Amino acid sequence: MYHAILPNQYHHAAQRFLQQLPELATTSPLCRRLKPVSLLIDIAPFTLAAQPHSFIAAQFDLSPRAARRRDNVIRQLLVLHEPDLYQAVLNLEQATPDEVTRQAFAFKSWLSELLSTSVMPCAYCASLNTVRIGQRLNFRCKACRRTFNPLKIYQLDKLSHCELWLPFIDMLLQGETCKTVNRQLGINTATAAKWQRYFLWIMSQQGFTLLANHCRTLRRRHYRQTRVNG
Ligand SMILES: [Zn+2]
Repeated sequence: MYHAILPNQYHHAAQRFLQQLPELATTSPLCRRLKPVSLLIDIAPFTLAAQPHSFIAAQFDLSPRAARRRDNVIRQLLVLHEPDLYQAVLNLEQATPDEVTRQAFAFKSWLSELLSTSVMPCAYCASLNTVRIGQRLNFRCKACRRTFNPLKIYQLDKLSHCELWLPFIDMLLQGETCKTVNRQLGINTATAAKWQRYFLWIMSQQGFTLLANHCRTLRRRHYRQTRVNG
């Protein structure tokens, strides 16, 4: 998980830390009250990738407080045993706009390519003799005569209006609230919230974790602002 996010020169230290961790977790007084030890070990790669507590909590089905405590203990162990690596994690948190921009571009390219594709091997028999039918990215296979939707593996077949997805992603990248999305794209706020959930999930699934976190952070900031401004 940290491989995609942490700069290469720290991978060795990260690996060393993860190898040391089982021993540290059982002997360090810092970990005494945090059982099970295996959970700490599972969370560590997320800490190394500077993932927010909310994300760690969701991944491991923990309360935000339990996630924060464990994340903090791992950070303290880092300070003690791999201070340079810890500094690298802190640097990650300062958000690296270049990397976010790169991921945003890559994600949008991936999605628009997926949406505009006219050639897709059959999901059932892998034949290339398929044709695209209609706007919703359905394909019919001429070999086995079945229809399939390549968006299904990303669960995107559950979202409508694919012509609005890219403009929606742009708004997501700017941290716009569902209300603003509703005003500008005409989709209702419940749908906007659903789209947001799906696309953030897909970003993480596709390895664009930094991008997904960036969107979440911006969104939180915007909500706070709109609340303050009434
Ligand atoms: Zn087929």
